[in-house]
Amino acid sequence: MKFKFLTFLFILASSIKAQQQDVSRDIEMGKRAYIEVAQTMGFYNNPSLEAYLRNLGNRLVAQLKQPLFNYEFYLVDAAEPNAFAVPGGKVFVTRGLLLLPMSEDELAGVIGHEIIHTQNRHSIHQQKENILGGLLSLPGVLVTTFFRGPIGEIVATPFLRAGGLINSQYSQSHETEADKQGVALAAAAGYQPQALAPMLKRLNLEVEFLTQNKEKKDYFSSHPFTPDRIKNINKISEKLIVAKQSALLQKNEFLYQLNGLSIGSNPEHGFVHQNKIYHPQLGLQMDTVEGWNFSFERHSLSLASNKQDATIAIQMSADSASAFAMMKKIENITLKKTGLSPSRAEASNWFGYKAAILTYNTTENGRAVAIQYTIVEYNNQLLKIVAMGYKEQEMVMNKVVGYLKPIQRKDLPQATSLNIVVSEAKEGESISEFTKRLKIEKWNNVIGGLNDKNDSYLCKNGELLKWIQYQPYSFQ
Ligand SMILES: [Zn+2]
Repeated sequence: MKFKFLTFLFILASSIKAQQQDVSRDIEMGKRAYIEVAQTMGFYNNPSLEAYLRNLGNRLVAQLKQPLFNYEFYLVDAAEPNAFAVPGGKVFVTRGLLLLPMSEDELAGVIGHEIIHTQNRHSIHQQKENILGGLLSLPGVLVTTFFRGPIGEIVATPFLRAGGLINSQYSQSHETEADKQGVALAAAAGYQPQALAPMLKRLNLEVEFLTQNKEKKDYFSSHPFTPDRIKNINKISEKLIVAKQSALLQKNEFLYQLNGLSIGSNPEHGFVHQNKIYHPQLGLQMDTVEGWNFSFERHSLSLASNKQDATIAIQMSADSASAFAMMKKIENITLKKTGLSPSRAEASNWFGYKAAILTYNTTENGRAVAIQYTIVEYNNQLLKIVAMGYKEQEMVMNKVVGYLKPIQRKDLPQATSLNIVVSEAKEGESISEFTKRLKIEKWNNVIGGLNDKNDSYLCKNGELLKWIQYQPYSFQ
């Protein structure tokens, strides 16, 4: 008896300990994921919307019997419609997602779902890699040597945004659980639980539209098939009792809260204008290059040849080191890790800015490979240009790097930003009449879908409708 009791105590003690350890691991993972989100996507600066998101999230968290974490809610500066949670109670919503909900109830359903993933500590069983295509076909050893480890941290996070946690996927059963308990959470906080269903439908339509791919019912797919989820949500919702509590924002206030929100790409992080690429955040411009793809990130610009035999990563980082000192650091680490010595390592200048250049020639599986680092002291930060590819591409790489030029903010051309606009409809007006009256020419075909209205629907006087419009964006 005594022995059993001791065993029981021991098991209890160790299980408590194990649980505590695990939670601290969740929190640790969450912190790392937060840094990754902050660096790769960043947050959208809109204090009133951020505060609203926090209040809404906290209202849902208040319904958890025993919150495991201090929950935090963030508005991510990304155009892709997405909401995701990472371990440790951090929930992220992209501004692109906010194009879709028509009411607070719908948004509450999405956030409730994400809270359950982190609260129930759903394990991440699959991590999608999302590296720039070009790099994948380059020699594995080089990728590992130069882009992971200490140098990776210095030079090339854009390539590494593999983003384990950000792109994490859960099992189908965890998704079903998050739907079920998430809508229950929403109902307990006073929201209509079935509101998640139309939101999912719209999200699915947008994803299909963006990817030009129709969702297939796939047994192996990570996400349950949307129509199945909707059926399930509706079934569960019937049994739920909705708490008597009015929303933070009523329908019209909710829509006005989203008025002016940018839902397209952020011109601060790159745009193309008359065959020129501009990256205001980096203070760079360059000509577009035939045969090369490019992609923008908040602090970086990446280019890859179509043949995927050369890549260029341009990144800015806050670093107090001089360009020359940074070059020496990379040189030393490379020597230690690979035994490679540079073919060139010298101070230089880039459009009058202090710079340093470091080049390597090596081989990979019998093929000659060239690597060049250009490090520039630019705008009180370090600009790092890393070109890497097969030797026969070296001249092309140099040419492309040569297209890069500094540009002052005041010299940037005007860009556009795709924003949400909320306008009042007139009594008896159809969607197409509304479109005509407001002279909406672009994206007029999505207004019905965005507002869940078909062609035969006639608006009520003062009813608010959402639409989207390119509006001028100035860098002054
Ligand atoms: Zn989920």
